Amino acid sequence: MSGGRTGELSAMDEPNEQELLAQAADADIHRLAIPTPFQVGRVNAYLIEDSPLTLIDSGPNSGKALDELEQALAVRGHAIEDIELLVITHQHIDHFGLASILARRSGAEVAALDGLALYLRDFGISTELDDRFAQEIMLRHGIPADVVTALRAVSASFRAWGSAVEITRQLRDGEELRLRDRTLRVLHRPGHSPSDTVFLDESRAILLAADHLIAHISSNPLLARPLGAPPDFTGPRPRALVDYIASLELTQAMDLSLVLPGHGSPIADHAALIDERFRMHRRRAEKIHGLIVAQPRTAHEIAVELWGNVAVTQAFLTLSEVLGHVDLLLDEGRVVECEDSADAVVRFEAV
Ligand SMILES: [Zn+2]
Repeated sequence: MSGGRTGELSAMDEPNEQELLAQAADADIHRLAIPTPFQVGRVNAYLIEDSPLTLIDSGPNSGKALDELEQALAVRGHAIEDIELLVITHQHIDHFGLASILARRSGAEVAALDGLALYLRDFGISTELDDRFAQEIMLRHGIPADVVTALRAVSASFRAWGSAVEITRQLRDGEELRLRDRTLRVLHRPGHSPSDTVFLDESRAILLAADHLIAHISSNPLLARPLGAPPDFTGPRPRALVDYIASLELTQAMDLSLVLPGHGSPIADHAALIDERFRMHRRRAEKIHGLIVAQPRTAHEIAVELWGNVAVTQAFLTLSEVLGHVDLLLDEGRVVECEDSADAVVRFEAV
């Protein structure tokens, strides 16, 4: 089975998407698939018909997203003004961009992980710092300067789909978010982003997982500034894939009846899917090891070797992928990091 796509994984007797969505609906959790302008396609917000009336994630800041969200709420007999609690799962704009508009119109409380509150309040500054951090990493790992410049422009244009939002209820890892008919356990699961937070409906063993686990694509462990890092943060380089694998191990050990992800279909067998992800990461690490054994290379050279000259917009994603897997090899003592004093670019060498 190839990494990334897991359609083949589904055995014939596995429940289909409609059955799994019906299982969620029995728990008064309804998927609202909101359009985004991004390659990932629609993002899943989840409406929990409980007290308070709760929305998990908002979709991006666009008129089309707002319009479709309003229609999806209306199908359930609600308006935006009825939302009482808005919960944000992580720092990516396709998940929280509409939050400030929804909060203003509804007066809803806005809840998110405590470490995420400042990031979202100062969203403009946060993304500016993120871009600067990404630029440093890209240059250090061999991405050509013209590509780095082009990517900054792309990132700046994406910002309009986000929006600063005030978090009125800060959540601590492990705490309980109590609704009338359920308790949601707040669990910090960094990796895909530093702020990834999943919510466990404890009595039903349903996990609202956002981008921590997705059925049809493997979540990118994106390199990002650590939460709460000072503005001038340059390192040490965060280890997103190492963190992500540790988070996946915690999730795999959970006894779950259903996982509701931030994109695509619900997941019935999370443990098998996570096993498949582990195998894929292992294969990729070994492939990268082979390339480094053949000759010392920069992370960018490895990315080009694996995926060719990808679109400019994908350059940071593929760099994050390579560095994540190199971190596994560094931990195993099979690779070392060597900085070239002439150009300050890092190359990886086999031990
Ligand atoms: Zn995300």
